[in-house]
Amino acid sequence: MTHHDCDVLIVGSGAGGATTAAILAEEGHDVLIVEEGPWVDQGEVAPFSLDQMGKQYRSGGVTVALGLPSIAYTEGRCAGGGTEVNSGLYWRPPEATLELWRSRYKIKDFASDDIISICAEVEDALTVQRVPGEHTPATDILRRGSERLGWQGDEIPRWMSYPEGDGATDGQRQSMTRTFLPRAFAAGARMLCDHRLDKIVRNGRRAVSAELTNEGRDVTIAFRDVIVCGGAIQTPAILQRAGFRHRIGRTLAVHPTVKLAARFDGAVNTPDDVSVYQVKQFAPNMSFGGSASHPGLVALALTDNWREFGAAVSAWTDLAIYYAAITSEGRGLVQTVPGVRDPLVTYRLTKRDRDLLGQGLARLAMVMLEAGALEVYPAFKNAPIVRNRRDLATMTGLFAATKASVMTVHLCSTAPMGDDEKLCATNSHGLLHGADNVFVNDAALLPEAPGVNPQASVMAVAIRNARRYCDERAKA
Ligand SMILES: Cc1cc2nc3c(=O)[nH]c(=O)nc-3n(C[C@H](O)[C@H](O)[C@H](O)COP(=O)(O)OP(=O)(O)OC[C@H]3O[C@@H](n4cnc5c(N)ncnc54)[C@H](O)[C@@H]3O)c2cc1C
Repeated sequence: MTHHDCDVLIVGSGAGGATTAAILAEEGHDVLIVEEGPWVDQGEVAPFSLDQMGKQYRSGGVTVALGLPSIAYTEGRCAGGGTEVNSGLYWRPPEATLELWRSRYKIKDFASDDIISICAEVEDALTVQRVPGEHTPATDILRRGSERLGWQGDEIPRWMSYPEGDGATDGQRQSMTRTFLPRAFAAGARMLCDHRLDKIVRNGRRAVSAELTNEGRDVTIAFRDVIVCGGAIQTPAILQRAGFRHRIGRTLAVHPTVKLAARFDGAVNTPDDVSVYQVKQFAPNMSFGGSASHPGLVALALTDNWREFGAAVSAWTDLAIYYAAITSEGRGLVQTVPGVRDPLVTYRLTKRDRDLLGQGLARLAMVMLEAGALEVYPAFKNAPIVRNRRDLATMTGLFAATKASVMTVHLCSTAPMGDDEKLCATNSHGLLHGADNVFVNDAALLPEAPGVNPQASVMAVAIRNARRYCDERAKA
């Protein structure tokens, strides 16, 4: 049995955990980060590849929220969490979202200007910018189709650094292993990778120690405070295993997406990159963008009607995958099951959500036809090949969300923050209601899915709360 001591234990090293660790360590706190996954340097595995899914995703990327339809979701499980594997598309939280969170959940000291000024710091730290050179064909397709329809859209900046004078595919993702984790280490923070926290041990309102496993060996850690940043699925599971229940894991919010693959007359596929263009004509309810289109993922996207679509896989270089994402009224549950390692996750889409998915898929297919797609392969059971507007009408008639391959990578809101105790699991700064020294500081805190890519919102909220923690500790 190995034992460690620290002042502050941070569980998870993703967007929430890494930023928290850097802020606390720079303020002189003795910080220990534990991370279930391995350290994988950027560039060690090809971005968006099946190899990456095997090494850096939880369960190789095969995780699902049960429901009608079930929703496949993915979580990063490595040093840096989701920031290592994601598309890097950066959106500040919209003003309307911040206002809704502030008023509905009674979040104190949550002025939009303060959050936006933290976003500006994040943009500097992660070198958020537009592609300096040529765009990939997948980006041009979305822009062309959208512009021909007269629909609004734009290139979304990313947290990337680019070598001088180079283009879209030469960028290096400014994930947590390249930014906030090195900052935390420089200020004295320690990190244990391949260490899974199994249990937080409590004495009433106080958490006193943690039990972990590292490659089969038992590890214990004693701490003064613990900050849980395991992501929106694992954080509620960790808290429930410690016996905390109030508003935990009951309000999972995601951006559900439906997909299609589109075939063009010539090569359009860039396996290790995604489109940086998003169509925002129907935002916030509906947005369209590009998905990872590695050959393995192209094959997967064609499986809903393999008999008719399967032949297209041999021309995978001419195919790219796109998604329609919606905001969702529905909510999900994350529940631990005794004796089972991973929590049970369920999600219930409302009728409005299901209808919106159908409309989204139809409009996305229209963008593809306008952009010059020869064939469109929608991802729902026994979907037809769409070659023209008439096929599109047939597709719309046949669509049902219950037959669709719905998925999501944006997971939020399983321990919402705010001073309204009826709605929220933590106070306005992430301290768990009912506990004295247990904090949450990750995507679980966002009271609702923000309607845009969420990482900037997660980081801004985490930095705000970490600073508050340091101020409170300095007073104590
Ligand atoms: C494929 C993909 C694409 C995405 N694209 C974008 C995008 O373009 N733009 C955007 O804004 N957002 C994107 N996101 C979402 C974004 O990555 C997340 O919102 C963000 O990473 C959430 O931060 P977090 O700290 O809550 O959790 P994470 O970043 O997921 O970090 C949680 C960490 O905790 C660790 N952990 C969990 N349980 C334990 C335990 N018991 N013990 C020890 N460690 C544990 C996990 O291994 C993980 O590393 C994407 C996500 C994915 C998966």
